[in-house]
Amino acid sequence: MKGFTDIIGHEQIIEHFQNSLRARQISHAYILNGENGSGKNMLASAFAKALVCEAGYGDACNMCKACRQFDGGNHPDVRRVLHEKKTGIGVDEVREQVCNDVLIKPYSSKYKIYIVDEAEKMTPQAQNALLKTIEEPPSYAVIMLLTNSVEALLPTIRSRCILLNLHSVDTDKIRDFLMQVHHVPDYQARVCASYAQGNTGRALLMATSENFREMHELMLRTVKRVDDMKVSDMAAAVVDISKYKAQIGDFLDLMMVWYRDVLVLKATGDLNAVVYKDEYRYLKRKAETSSYEGISRIFEAMDNARTRINANASFEWTIELLLVMIKEN
Ligand SMILES: [Zn+2]
Repeated sequence: MKGFTDIIGHEQIIEHFQNSLRARQISHAYILNGENGSGKNMLASAFAKALVCEAGYGDACNMCKACRQFDGGNHPDVRRVLHEKKTGIGVDEVREQVCNDVLIKPYSSKYKIYIVDEAEKMTPQAQNALLKTIEEPPSYAVIMLLTNSVEALLPTIRSRCILLNLHSVDTDKIRDFLMQVHHVPDYQARVCASYAQGNTGRALLMATSENFREMHELMLRTVKRVDDMKVSDMAAAVVDISKYKAQIGDFLDLMMVWYRDVLVLKATGDLNAVVYKDEYRYLKRKAETSSYEGISRIFEAMDNARTRINANASFEWTIELLLVMIKEN
C-alpha cells in the first residue's frame, strides 16, 4: 500500500492521524475499533508508514529508504505482535514482543510502532502486562490496538488510549473502488458493494473469491426459480444450498439484497435504484405478483431462518420453510 490515499472512506480517522503527524503530536496508544474487514489494518499500516517516513509531512512519501523498507515488510521499527491463533494473545507474547522489546530504542526512525491485531484476544494477564507499558511508555513508543470489540479491553487500557471508531463506508465509494482498482465489472461491483453494507474488506472478498461467486450464482438461480418450484425442485434446491451451510449468513444477506430490490421496484418503479438491474425481468415479476405485506413476510422469513439456524434448528427444514414462505408470498 502507498499510504492514506489508498484507503476508501474513514476520512475522519485519516484527518485525525494527519493532523497529529503535521503537528507532531503523536499519542502513545491508539485503539482502532471496527468489524473485521472494515479497514483497521490499512489505517494502522498507513499511520505506521507515515510515522517512519523520513519526509514527515503527514503521509508516506513512498520514495525514502524507510518507505521502501516498510513496503518490503521489513522496517525494523514497525512491529506486528504475532500469536498462536488458538490460545489467543498470552502474557508471554505481550511481554516478549512489546514490554521488553520497547525498551530497546528505535533502530532508524523517531518512533517504534507496535500493531496488535485482534487485540480482543489478549488475555486479562496480557492486557495488564501491556497496561504497564501504556502507563509509562518510552517517548518513542506508539502502540496500536486493533479490535472488533473494544468492550473486550480492560477499562484501564481504554482510558489511556485514543479510541478511533471505524464507520461504514459509502456503498458508492466501495463500488467505485472495486471497479477502478480491482477491475470488477459494474454489475458485480454494485452487488458486492450493497451486500457488504459499508465493509470494504467484505466487498472485496465477495468480488474476488471463487467460492463466493458460486454461492452468489446459486442464490440468483434460487430466487429466480423459487416461485415456479414444485416440491421436488425445492428438495433439490435445499440440497444445493446446504453446501453453503457454514456461510448461510452470507447467503441470506445476498438474498436480502435481492428482495430489497423487489421492494424498491414495487415502491418506486425506478430501475436505477435497484442493485440487480440486469435481472429486471425477474424483479419486476415478483414486484407485480407480491403485495407489500407479502414482501414484508419474506423479510420476516429470512430473519426467522437466520435465528433458527443460529439456534441449531434443522438446516434442511429451515431452508425449505423459507423457500415455501417466499413462494407463497
Ligand atoms: Zn518516505
